[in-house]
Amino acid sequence: MNNLPTIEILGIPVHPLAMSEAVAYLVDRVKQKLVTNVVTANAEIIMLVQRDPDYKKILQAAECVLPDGAGTVWAGRTLGFAVPERVAGFDLFLNLVKTAPEHAFKIYFFGASPGIAELAKKKCEEFAPGVQIVGCRNGYFTAEDVPQIINDINQSGADILFVALGAPKQEYWLRDNQELLKPYLRIGLGGSFDVLAGKMARAPKWMQEASLEWLFRLYKDPSRLGRMIVLPKFVLKVLTAKYSGK
Ligand code: UDP
Repeated sequence: MNNLPTIEILGIPVHPLAMSEAVAYLVDRVKQKLVTNVVTANAEIIMLVQRDPDYKKILQAAECVLPDGAGTVWAGRTLGFAVPERVAGFDLFLNLVKTAPEHAFKIYFFGASPGIAELAKKKCEEFAPGVQIVGCRNGYFTAEDVPQIINDINQSGADILFVALGAPKQEYWLRDNQELLKPYLRIGLGGSFDVLAGKMARAPKWMQEASLEWLFRLYKDPSRLGRMIVLPKFVLKVLTAKYSGK
């Protein structure tokens, strides 16, 4: 499928690229007009896969699975692999937006509450002058709206589609519509439009560097506690895999 270095974390193939390598690879794929599905796999996603065989298939089929989050980087290294750094979905998003004008790539934003994608678009136009964000659509829709959404995305001529519906909804949506969509590069971005629009704060740099972004998110939104309860389970599973050789 591709020649990327691949490691396996709890049954999931992960491509341990550095950010600059990931961006170069994805730019090249778009230039070659090759369809590429990207999943930025954090610990929550890897744990979700453990109890959802369909989601697992999506990750196994994705052309590029990047190590998002301190947990995934830690897991890869603990299992004995070289993982250069964390490639967070939000940072990948910003880097692709910055490089898009140079290659005249067109981008479509799909997801988040009404008005958020448009705010994120404005921010991108400030830090990446000349960027072509050719369409925005909020992420709240019914099954009947889907043909119109796909039509709008395709008519826009976008090369890159960012889908911010949260995991796993965004990956399922991309899988269900993969044959109909025209953009080459398709990436699920979770809450990234909210962060860029200023609706959701990102952890300060020191917390990111201390691998504490999860703690910041929990502090900002305590309702995430239920989801985060999987994190200690993730640690345990990785340690079990390491010491049992499974
Ligand atoms: N969202 C959406 N449609 C939905 C459900 C969620 O557009 O049906 C958006 C939501 O508004 C938010 C994002 O998806 O912008 C989910 O953000 P979250 O931080 O929960 O995602 P994660 O990064 O944890 O996957």
